Amino acid sequence: MSSSGFEPTIFSRIIAREIPATIVAETEHIIAFLDIAPKAPVHVVVTTKDPQYQNVVELAAGNPALLAELVAVAERIADERTNGQFRLVFNTGAAAGQTVFHVHAHVLGSQESTDSLGEDSLGAL
Ligand code: AMP
Repeated sequence: MSSSGFEPTIFSRIIAREIPATIVAETEHIIAFLDIAPKAPVHVVVTTKDPQYQNVVELAAGNPALLAELVAVAERIADERTNGQFRLVFNTGAAAGQTVFHVHAHVLGSQESTDSLGEDSLGAL
């Protein structure tokens, strides 16, 4: 239990280096790592180091500049790792497939210039 009384999310434990992850980008406020269960050839989770926002709606209302920074990091990752076209998915709510209540985006893309994202990548993340 953290001092705030809330159990740290799995992403907070990755940020604290308590559990391993393949970190692919990091800024003062944002961290990105490979998804442990990839749903596309490129599947990176981009999240805020601050765990106070549970989803993108809360983040947009509470700190829009931080949301913009998250999107900028996601774009940079996509530029580096995909054919330049990508999906940016924010699951919002358990019924929509959200399992980690620490705001994050999924960057989903293909590695090859000829690839496109198939129907499979439209399913639950
Ligand atoms: P969501 O279902 O939108 O909340 O996304 C949570 C994502 O976190 C899922 O795609 C999981 O595969 C991913 N995930 C959970 N635990 C880990 C982990 N230890 N390292 C990397 N990705 C993880």
